[in-house]
Amino acid sequence: MRKKIVAGNWKMNLSPGEATALFMALNELPKYDAEMIVFPPLVYVQELNRVRTSAVHLGVQNFYPIESGAFTGEVSIAQVKNVGASYALVGHSERRSVFGESGEMLRAKVNACLFHEMTPIVCCGEPLVIREANEEFSFVKDQLEECLFHLSGEQLTKTIIAYEPVWAIGTGKTASSEQAEAMHKEIRSWIAEKYGTEIANSISILYGGSCNASNAEELFNCENVDGGLIGGASLDVGAFEAILKSI
Ligand code: PEP
Repeated sequence: MRKKIVAGNWKMNLSPGEATALFMALNELPKYDAEMIVFPPLVYVQELNRVRTSAVHLGVQNFYPIESGAFTGEVSIAQVKNVGASYALVGHSERRSVFGESGEMLRAKVNACLFHEMTPIVCCGEPLVIREANEEFSFVKDQLEECLFHLSGEQLTKTIIAYEPVWAIGTGKTASSEQAEAMHKEIRSWIAEKYGTEIANSISILYGGSCNASNAEELFNCENVDGGLIGGASLDVGAFEAILKSI
């Protein structure tokens, strides 16, 4: 049975004190039906792991998919694992658009995660022009083929997918539950075609893009939506708890 997950992407926000306070507050929340994962700025991961008291999992927003060496400014997946991360975001639209991460880079990141027994959350999603041209399904399928569908079925079950339409990220404009469900269902059907229904039904597919306390319940009620990847609303413990409660 696939897992329900609510993950918070803090992006490049919060001072050390703010990050610790928010993380401690999350650790004190009652247990809800979803696994909770937090993606803080990388510099805070080690300290947050040290103060971690409950089942709040830690992940990284970025890493470089090479084992070690002369890569000034980068960190490897083994290094982030050693300081307490067990998940990594791969293919977030900001990494693709601001940092020019290619399909080849994302594929290498997925492979590096699996090699080190870390779980990648692979993000996909179309920009507005693509949706307006009614090409969102083929666009997202190409993205997944580029960085995920090279895996074996067994490897694929160790990954999580997040559908995040680019036009909904940080814009306050959420996909409707019909739009989200249509894409999630389609993603599951591509997996079923290639890997079979059992594997397709075991993969968690999260929705991301201006998901908040008021729209989470409707989105999470969709059959193929297994939780959310939350940006802005994950910086507020009350909003994040309300989203967790919506599962
Ligand atoms: C994100 O960046 O992954 C995201 C979903 O952001 P927001 O919730 O702020 O749209």
